[in-house]
Amino acid sequence: MPDDLAGNISSMGTDRMTPATYRLILSCRLARVALLAFCWAASTAQLSAADFDVVIVGGRVIDPESKLDAVRNVGIRNGKIEALTTRLIKGRTTVDGRGLVVAPGFIDLHEHGQIPENYRMQAMDGVTSSLELEAGAPDIGAWYAEREGRAVVNYGASIGHIRVRMKVMNDPGDFLPSGTAIHKVASDDELKQIAQRLEDGLKQGAPAVGFSTAYTPGATAWETLEVFRIAAKYNASVHVHLRSARDKSLESINEVLGPAALTGAPLHIVHLNSSGSEYTPQLLSLVAQAQARGLDVTTECYPYTAGMTKIASAIFNEGWQENLAISYKDLLWPDTGERLTAESFARYRKTNGWVITFTNTEKMVKAAVVSPLTMIASDGIPYVDGRSHPRSAGTYARILGHYVREEKALSLMEALRKMSLAPAQRLEMRAPAMRNKGRIRVGADADIVVFDPNRVIDRATYQQPGLHSEGIQHVLVNGVPVVKDGNLLEGVTPGRGVRAPIVR
Ligand SMILES: [Zn+2]
Repeated sequence: MPDDLAGNISSMGTDRMTPATYRLILSCRLARVALLAFCWAASTAQLSAADFDVVIVGGRVIDPESKLDAVRNVGIRNGKIEALTTRLIKGRTTVDGRGLVVAPGFIDLHEHGQIPENYRMQAMDGVTSSLELEAGAPDIGAWYAEREGRAVVNYGASIGHIRVRMKVMNDPGDFLPSGTAIHKVASDDELKQIAQRLEDGLKQGAPAVGFSTAYTPGATAWETLEVFRIAAKYNASVHVHLRSARDKSLESINEVLGPAALTGAPLHIVHLNSSGSEYTPQLLSLVAQAQARGLDVTTECYPYTAGMTKIASAIFNEGWQENLAISYKDLLWPDTGERLTAESFARYRKTNGWVITFTNTEKMVKAAVVSPLTMIASDGIPYVDGRSHPRSAGTYARILGHYVREEKALSLMEALRKMSLAPAQRLEMRAPAMRNKGRIRVGADADIVVFDPNRVIDRATYQQPGLHSEGIQHVLVNGVPVVKDGNLLEGVTPGRGVRAPIVR
């Protein structure tokens, strides 16, 4: 019986009722009770018989897409969220979410450390998908095959123009160009090979294209356009490290906005804060203007004042002190902990290695972090022999602990949007798996982080970059727990490749 009819009947006065009316009311009420009882029994039977693989109970669920922020129980089966309810549910494994926030696992669009140690420290920082979209990989098929069934978190790599150019030009660099691929203008034949390899990578399902004229200044405007044309053909975003820093980053953004506008390829500018430095507000305003003109342009930032790169790369070509507005003393050599001099700089540039560059101010970092335009991405560096940049292990907990809790610079909902939903939306047009990530809703992948909002904080430092974050209590990747009670679980590798459809 519809509610309104039952309501009308029961509001009738009983003093004027005939026995027939009274019987009608009674039978209607009994029917209603029976119907409600049936519905309740059916729904609880459905839930309790389901026997979820994992349930997270009593947590404060925050979903940046629906804006849900309430206590809910989450039921997970076969790697997916199957229930989101206030009702009691049971599973083979129960995660006690009381007092904790339950949010979509973080999606990092910029992590160079695609090795087990980085995946582990990222899991402890709440990351469930770790993607290397800036430098990328030179051979997509081989790159994904190497990680299949072996990764703690989901993984992915763009087809990297930088890496492809290195391969075509036989550059000796291990990660970034240190030889011919820096300055050489590509011959017609080389350009053809570069284009072919980019296209092959996209056909093999690369979720994006990586690009950086900062590391390959020899790439001409035509080569840049060619990269964007190919990306546009496959609906792939181009993830760009701008050619120059500070004031010249304003000119550098035009160098890629033009090709994006001409070809229609989506453009994503990496680490806007470290490229822009004191020009961060201007760069942000250019991104906003481009969006207002209908261009698909997005950007990201990391929450640290220092960057990290290879000392033999083109970043340190003649004029670096003016370009970056820093000098030797602003360079930290992690191998020894020393600040550099003209002499040690020249020595290390010959042998190559990672160097930390103090180029930014906290004011500019904060401007980028709080801007609604930015996503959070770590730009993490491979953690090898105890050396890396603290952003590799601490980026996400630092946003939650420092900027959200301590500084109250942005809301928890907004921070979570920038770390999960926004990066998923950046890639979902090309990588369909992303449509079910970055969200807590029925049908979404169970990539979930459960953290203590009162305790979450980064611990990694420039001296000890490998220290895991604190307060990340539970992490699930495709429904499988990888962090439990704040500890990393050994021997679990539920990570899957985030990939676009393969074209044969
Ligand atoms: Zn990077």
